[in-house]
Amino acid sequence: MGKQTVRFQCHHSGHCCRDVVCLPTPWDVLRIAMNIHRDPHDFIEFLTPDEIEGVSKSDPTWLIIGDNRYIMALQRTPEEGCFFLDRKTYHCTIYEHRPLLCRLYPFKLHETRTGEFSHFSLHQDVGCPRFRDGVVETAPLYDLYLQDKMHQEDYVKIVNRFNALEDDSRSPEHFLDLFVEVVQAGDEEG
Ligand code: SF4
Ligand code: SF4
Repeated sequence: MGKQTVRFQCHHSGHCCRDVVCLPTPWDVLRIAMNIHRDPHDFIEFLTPDEIEGVSKSDPTWLIIGDNRYIMALQRTPEEGCFFLDRKTYHCTIYEHRPLLCRLYPFKLHETRTGEFSHFSLHQDVGCPRFRDGVVETAPLYDLYLQDKMHQEDYVKIVNRFNALEDDSRSPEHFLDLFVEVVQAGDEEG
C-alpha cells in the first residue's frame, strides 16, 4: 500500500461545485434520485461537445445519436454552479448522496509502473486552492477510486447498448430511461 495520508482540507470555497461540470455515473444518478425522491430528469442535463471542455472525443461515455454527441451531467448554470449547491453556504445539499467524482475531488491517484497504488496528490488543473492544513486518509479514497472505476466500466456498457440502438428519433433523455430499466432488470452485462 502506498502513502497512507495526503495533506488537504476543504475550506468550502465552492469552486469545484460552481465552476466545474460534474459528470455522474448512472449509479450516482439513481442513488441521488432515490434518496431525494426526485425524478432524474429534474437534475440531469445532456451537454454537447461545444458545451463542455476537457472531455476528449474518444471518451466512451458520449451518447451518439446520428451525427450528434451528448454527455450526461448534473444540471448547472454558469452563474450559480451545480443544481445541488447551496447558494449561501456553498455546501452541497446532497452531501451524503453526492456522486463518487465529487467525493474523489480534488484527489488524483498515482500508480506505480506495475499498476499498484502509489499515492494521491491534489489536482492542479481545475482550480482548487489546495489548502494543506489537514490530513486525509488515502485508504477510503482508494476504495472510492476502485468503486468509481467499476461503475465507469458498467456505465460504458450501458452507453454502448444505447448507441447500438439504430433509432435516430431517440433523445439523450431516453438514456435515463434505459439505465433505470437495465439496473432494475439487474442486467448490466447486456
Ligand atoms: S453534487 Fe454536491 S458536491 Fe457534487 S458538484 Fe454538486 S454541489 Fe458539488
Ligand atoms: S475547490 Fe477545493 S477547497 Fe474549494 S470546495 Fe472544492 S475541494 Fe473544497
